[in-house]
Amino acid sequence: MKRVMLLLVAAIAIAAFCLPMNGCDKARPTSPIDGNRAYAWVKGMVDIGPRPAGTMELKACRDYILGELKKLGLTAKVDSFKSEPHGAGIEFHNIECEIPATNADEKRLLVLGSHYDTKRTHVPGNPNPEMLFVGANDAGSSSGLLIELARHFKANPLPCRLLLTWFDGEESLPWEWDSDKALFGSRRCVQQLVKRFKGGSLKDAVPCMVLLDMVGHKDLAITQDTASNQVLIKLFQQAIDQLSYGSKFFQDKNHMTDDHVPFLNYGVRAIDLIQFGDVTAWWHTGNDTMDLISPESLAIVGHVVSVALPLVAAEFYKKQ
Ligand SMILES: [Zn+2]
Repeated sequence: MKRVMLLLVAAIAIAAFCLPMNGCDKARPTSPIDGNRAYAWVKGMVDIGPRPAGTMELKACRDYILGELKKLGLTAKVDSFKSEPHGAGIEFHNIECEIPATNADEKRLLVLGSHYDTKRTHVPGNPNPEMLFVGANDAGSSSGLLIELARHFKANPLPCRLLLTWFDGEESLPWEWDSDKALFGSRRCVQQLVKRFKGGSLKDAVPCMVLLDMVGHKDLAITQDTASNQVLIKLFQQAIDQLSYGSKFFQDKNHMTDDHVPFLNYGVRAIDLIQFGDVTAWWHTGNDTMDLISPESLAIVGHVVSVALPLVAAEFYKKQ
């Protein structure tokens, strides 16, 4: 009996030790990213309702993001613009927040972005125009996580400058995807960066860009985007392996057209972290609600980004 009790105590002790490590696969450091906090920020945006470009609801979302950044002691600015002939007269607004490098002389930027507009649904071609689309995963998840990553990188700055951007107008204005009538915010961001670093090539001033989009699904399965830069994929894989999250990343492949493309077009290395496997049950439907996403998934993607960005900085932002 005593022996049985001892064995039982030992078994409970081992179980207690293993539980936080997801089945004892490998010791994993605790995530510095708080999934619950990121989830609360996503909810703050989703509670506003549908948030397409040019609406008062997207303005409310923008004010919310700006207010939360301010609470974190971060300063952000808004870049407002129109984009004719394809922008339908809409005024778009990118949000930008720059975190200084550990080395004050380092001028080069790493861009970390997410779009924050939601797909407009009252348009021809939508089979269900009356649906309520609140975009918890698309684009709430990445937009909320980006606030938590801003908090993290303010406390743990990189050797390069980090430009956090919330892009407006990622979604295609027509229901069916039309690249000319989408990606307005990211194209504008690239144009502004070209102006800022006039005289040099953009890829020297901005060696890398990381995009987050649809990163909160409770059954997390981030796709490997074949348009993304191969070296960045390898560096992210290194972070994923280090944290033993291999089962949740890069198990499927797809070629994505997303906010990283305008950067790729200028020679900037870019990677898109997006879940785009079997998305028919929820993507651009009324099912993209808060119960589709989880704090755990946000914490996992945030953890990977928090480990991968220092690897990216070490590889592409060496001291000149
Ligand atoms: Zn979308």
